[in-house]
Amino acid sequence: MAKKKSKREYVWLECSECKNRNYRTSVSVREGTPKITLMKFCKTERKHTSHKIRRK
Ligand SMILES: [Zn+2]
Repeated sequence: MAKKKSKREYVWLECSECKNRNYRTSVSVREGTPKITLMKFCKTERKHTSHKIRRK
């Protein structure tokens, strides 16, 4: 498989409260993965929590 020069990488969004990996998304990668937290809806807790980006 040829590697494209795409600067996007698939990561998981992990709930900071229940540690479930609820979402998979792609982020742009320049100098490593930025440590971003996003407010996402957690299905397990049925509320919005902060989700941390996790590589794989
Ligand atoms: Zn959760």
